[in-house]
Amino acid sequence: MPNSAATRPPPFCPNPQCVSRTRSILWRYKKKGFFDRSYRPYRVQRYVCLHCHRNFSSQTFSTTYWLRYTDLLETLFHRLVGGSCLRQISRELGVTHRTLQLQAERLGRHCLLFHEQLRPRTAPDEPLVLDGFRTFEHSQYWPFDLNLLIGTSHFVYGIGEAELRRSGTMRPAQRQKRALLESRHGRPYPQATRRSVEELVARIVPEGSSATIRSDEHQAYPLAFRRLRGRRLHHEQTSSRKSRTTRNPLFPVNLADLLLRHSSANHKRETIAFSKRRQGAMYRAAIWLVWRNYVKSRSENKRNSPPAVVLGLIRKKLSIAKILEHRLFPSQIKLGSWVKRCYDGRIRTRRLDKNRSHQPAFAE
Ligand SMILES: [Zn+2]
Repeated sequence: MPNSAATRPPPFCPNPQCVSRTRSILWRYKKKGFFDRSYRPYRVQRYVCLHCHRNFSSQTFSTTYWLRYTDLLETLFHRLVGGSCLRQISRELGVTHRTLQLQAERLGRHCLLFHEQLRPRTAPDEPLVLDGFRTFEHSQYWPFDLNLLIGTSHFVYGIGEAELRRSGTMRPAQRQKRALLESRHGRPYPQATRRSVEELVARIVPEGSSATIRSDEHQAYPLAFRRLRGRRLHHEQTSSRKSRTTRNPLFPVNLADLLLRHSSANHKRETIAFSKRRQGAMYRAAIWLVWRNYVKSRSENKRNSPPAVVLGLIRKKLSIAKILEHRLFPSQIKLGSWVKRCYDGRIRTRRLDKNRSHQPAFAE
């Protein structure tokens, strides 16, 4: 991976409380020697901010900050959207599962910010298609929907999540186990889908604008739209029994579901690589979303441009190296409440007593 952070001057003081960040004054810093590393990059330029006297280095602005192994991220990105699970990748690259898990989370956070920085901030010009991609966390007793809002260009505008209660046919023993688990850990909020969809649509369609949203006949969607005041939402419903051809109005989400299952090891049927935590699944979904929007052709056969080029958000398809070129800071990008919660690793898996969250670096 090219380490351009090492050659370009630092863009701003990484301390969000620094006076150079809170007031519009000319930022001044000076170089303060180097430090040596036994891994790449071997020599790192150090700096000091002349306003808040914070020390930092060129690594502060690299996606590999604080990492010993700086060349794993790009390979990991490719493998994660190529249908590999962490254990397979760890065997191939000769690093521990734990190292890869932490780097995958870092990639997830980066991708969340990357998309938030590039996505349109006004209401989309094209019709949107909404759907919940059914998967589970921890065990099949804990299903959840990965909610997707996709344009007819196949650009994925946003994602969200809603935990669900296990339903469908169950043997008596399974019913008993569900009751036991629910008495220990509580039941998912019954209106989780309505709440998630409401937040997702509000994030993508700003107040005062209008949008056409196509979906199946899920009962929670009209409830969510009714609560979104100040927006003109035109809702078109299609039965999920209608054949899933390219002419189906829900084609963009049907294709996205297929792609998600095809490219992500955690969503394959009958897999043992399923996500242990919903938070992990959402980081993986963010990586998939960036790949889908900014890297992958809309059609594999035609080898055409990715959806973000069609929308004019980027000039040409991006390489993974380009996506990972600079570190992004959450304090520099406007984030909606759910995105911030996901970035901070605060999506809880009900089944676990302890849920880790992301420990932000000083610079965030
Ligand atoms: Zn400063």
